[in-house]
Amino acid sequence: MSLGALIREDIAKSGFMRLDRYMSLCLMHPHYGYYTQRDPFGSKGDFVTAPEVSQMFGEMIGLWLAQVWQDQGSPPATLIELGPGRGTMMADVLRICAHVPGFLERVSVVLVEQSAHLIAVQKDRLKGHSISWQPSLSSLPDGPVFLIANEFFDALPIRQAERIDEIWLERVVRCEDDGDLRLGHAPLAADEAANLPLHARDGEITEWSEASCRLVSSLGQHIETHGGAALLIDYGRDGGQGDTLQAVKAHEYHGVLNEPGEADLSAHVDFAALAKAATPAFAAPLAEQGAFLAAMGIGQRAAQLAQTADAEPLADALERLTATSEMGQLFKVLGLRPQSAPGLPALEEPC
Ligand code: SAH
Repeated sequence: MSLGALIREDIAKSGFMRLDRYMSLCLMHPHYGYYTQRDPFGSKGDFVTAPEVSQMFGEMIGLWLAQVWQDQGSPPATLIELGPGRGTMMADVLRICAHVPGFLERVSVVLVEQSAHLIAVQKDRLKGHSISWQPSLSSLPDGPVFLIANEFFDALPIRQAERIDEIWLERVVRCEDDGDLRLGHAPLAADEAANLPLHARDGEITEWSEASCRLVSSLGQHIETHGGAALLIDYGRDGGQGDTLQAVKAHEYHGVLNEPGEADLSAHVDFAALAKAATPAFAAPLAEQGAFLAAMGIGQRAAQLAQTADAEPLADALERLTATSEMGQLFKVLGLRPQSAPGLPALEEPC
């Protein structure tokens, strides 16, 4: 059995498969899912993420966390990372936070991960730290929560609708007689269509992620009530129009239906929808990754590291993380905090 065969079987029963189900099967099916089968990161893998570019990325996140934690009175708290990949960012964060008085004693660490394969990689990378794992954020711990996520929300399932003859139809996966998967349409329930933009041109596509909004909604509620903060970093935009679902394999774009489970599927994150879902917590104005890292002092950190290490790779990494033509502009940073808490460093306040 392959994931493609499993998907075809499912479609044979109900006629079509919604995109959110297709995406979650492709990424997270326990046996055939993209993330459950492999370690996709790095130059030999399918894509490179910011923490894998340089230790400086995780260090800036660590400094941000330490500052926000201290600004809220250094409380006993839980540090949560969603989708930690190889565990690199958390290792860099904990190395920085070990210098902050009381942090490691008062803060317990939880990693949210569904891939058994990546949990093993994370356990190895974070040996010596006391950490627990959970498969989802369905329950939040008591007390303040400080949460970080890099390139996590782009992997959460999305749905899409297309405007055809003045109504919204859902875009779904269908199967041709010869077994080829193709995109088709299915009716959308009236109460769901009512949430979509009222005016749209024929052929326009709109995209939304229920899974992301549900998660951020319970997170925002928790942060507002119990304290803490969140830093969500991803590639995305300030709104939800257009089709952004894409498949990447070996650093190249592929058709999203071509090889289920073999390519990474992701969609641009709609930060406006996340900020709205986070209510009643306060969402800081959306920042670009380059500006955020610069405000956190990544330039000074690069100069400091260059005193004892080869300067060229450091300059390359700095460029990659911050330049407008690289990750600096496409990637955005959304910060959340309780309404009454001090402003967030680099997003609202200078560092
Ligand atoms: N943050 C890491 C990895 C990003 S890739 C980095 O920047 O390098 C996405 C990560 O999220 C992987 O660890 C993947 O296994 C995990 N993931 C994706 N969807 C998930 C889900 N629904 N629940 C839990 N983890 C998920």
